[in-house]
Amino acid sequence: MKGHIPDVKIEEIKSRANIVDLVSEYVTLKKAGRNYIGLCPFHKEKTASFTVTPDKQMFYCFGCGEGGNVFAFLMKINQMAYPEAIRHLARKTGVAIPERAASREEEDRDSLREQIIHVNQVAAIHYSNNLFSPGGKEAQAYLKKREIREDVIREFRLGFAPDGWRHLKDFLEKRKIPLNIAEQAGLLVPGRESSLYDRFRNRLMFPIEDASGRVIAFGGRNIAAGEPKYMNSPESAVYVKGRNLYGLNRAKEEIRRQGYAILVEGYFDLMQLWNAGITHVVATLGTALTGEQIDLLGRYTSHVAALFDPDEAGKKALERSLGLFLAGNMHGRAVILPGGYDPDDYVKAFGKESLLDLIAHAPSMVDYYIENAMGDRGTFEKDREALRNSLSLIRHIENAVERNLFIKRVSEKLGVDQNILKSEVSRTMPAFASGAAAQKRQATSVDALELNLLHLWMTSPEKIAMIAETDILNYFMSPDLKALGEKLGTVATGAGHFDAVAFISGLPSGPVREKLLKKAMDEGFHDELMRDRLFSDTVMQIKRKWYREVHRKLKAKMVKAQEAGDEARCRELLSEKENLLREEKSQVAGINE
Ligand SMILES: [Zn+2]
Repeated sequence: MKGHIPDVKIEEIKSRANIVDLVSEYVTLKKAGRNYIGLCPFHKEKTASFTVTPDKQMFYCFGCGEGGNVFAFLMKINQMAYPEAIRHLARKTGVAIPERAASREEEDRDSLREQIIHVNQVAAIHYSNNLFSPGGKEAQAYLKKREIREDVIREFRLGFAPDGWRHLKDFLEKRKIPLNIAEQAGLLVPGRESSLYDRFRNRLMFPIEDASGRVIAFGGRNIAAGEPKYMNSPESAVYVKGRNLYGLNRAKEEIRRQGYAILVEGYFDLMQLWNAGITHVVATLGTALTGEQIDLLGRYTSHVAALFDPDEAGKKALERSLGLFLAGNMHGRAVILPGGYDPDDYVKAFGKESLLDLIAHAPSMVDYYIENAMGDRGTFEKDREALRNSLSLIRHIENAVERNLFIKRVSEKLGVDQNILKSEVSRTMPAFASGAAAQKRQATSVDALELNLLHLWMTSPEKIAMIAETDILNYFMSPDLKALGEKLGTVATGAGHFDAVAFISGLPSGPVREKLLKKAMDEGFHDELMRDRLFSDTVMQIKRKWYREVHRKLKAKMVKAQEAGDEARCRELLSEKENLLREEKSQVAGINE
């Protein structure tokens, strides 16, 4: 559904966008011949099967079958609707799209997401203006006290929500922004008599952006003594807790350059590192680290240095994170700042280079865990707990070699026989779901001949006009492929040119889409003569297949009629068969059965 965005604009965006650049924002790609390959962001894998082809401006994963053009990529990776993906890419490529008028479409779910993001952007501007106005003095003083530099404040678009019930509400109302959208964004809260009031009051505001830079939520830090100290937007159509990493959008390029990411817990830890000129850093937004966050980070790097507090809570957080790191095939380092320093104090006392050095020489999380977290032992109870914890960790390690190494070290540390540990692990460990995504895929068979013909049409758009003229679709035995053929006939006859990858990208996901993408990916160049031969061969084979099937059915009917001794029916079927044979001869050349 293209809706209100003109086709010429979509073409312009497509011609300006480069799929390699776009995908590179989310996936680390390596050149491989004419293509680029990387680890698929849509399924878990250790060897790259995710392929981007600049020649065809498409991507395809040979592991999970996901694929398509630039828009399909944006839709999938950002969970965007089609118009949203177009707008996003339009902004990036500098193509101006006419503002749309309010329409019924505004009310559907897809545009709700767009609207929430829009209201969040507007709110971010409002909060930022407040911070730098006389009303924001207190908040500015607070930031000064924490010594956050102004350029960092502006980089992260920090803002201030003044004390009061309707600052934001009035601001939005003046701009004619529907308040119910602001409510769904979690910025306004219903009060008595169904009136709405500001959720965030007297708080320093942190816009939370997704990996594409869209404001999806806010975090608010109370600058007075009240509770709670931190408050986040509730979940909405665009914001799900534990799926984003604070700062990722601004850090991703530097993460790639440095080859690793620094992971901290809070907004201020992150900003203090920025203060010191260390910008390849992301924060978990105050909640415990999740597997989804690890997967997200895994799109940019497989090396992470996590900063933990040296206290008991930090130790627990490390233990929890270690399992996630192991499960996500992520190489983690545990960085513990000495003497209770926070990153900022540390940099001030010893300098940026010293901090980077500390990070570079930090022990791997596994080492740290075995040496320190497990080090606190002695009593039988403590040993038993350590054993239980490490067993639950071992289960996360997919790689057998690494798993056995870990088992060896744990057994040495605890003085337990390795074999006992191993048998305990295999007893309780679920079968490893390696390549689960690939296995989960339906093995539904798709008629290869019919699919081939559809593919041939797509690669020779000048022949698409012929679909309406021939009756070949009547010989299709798969209703789905027949419908697709009919659709193809109508889509392409009107337009001047035909974009096969775009057409396939727009199909509902399933084995047909997947197989067509793979064909588009693999296809080489045939000369015209070759192509014509392929066409006529495929058409012929489809017809033969159809006749074979009709003959088979007829034969079964005859057997049934003979068994029943129904002679009249037999004669009827026989003449039907003769007609069929005659028809077949005229339709299919060189038939021999
Ligand atoms: Zn994949």
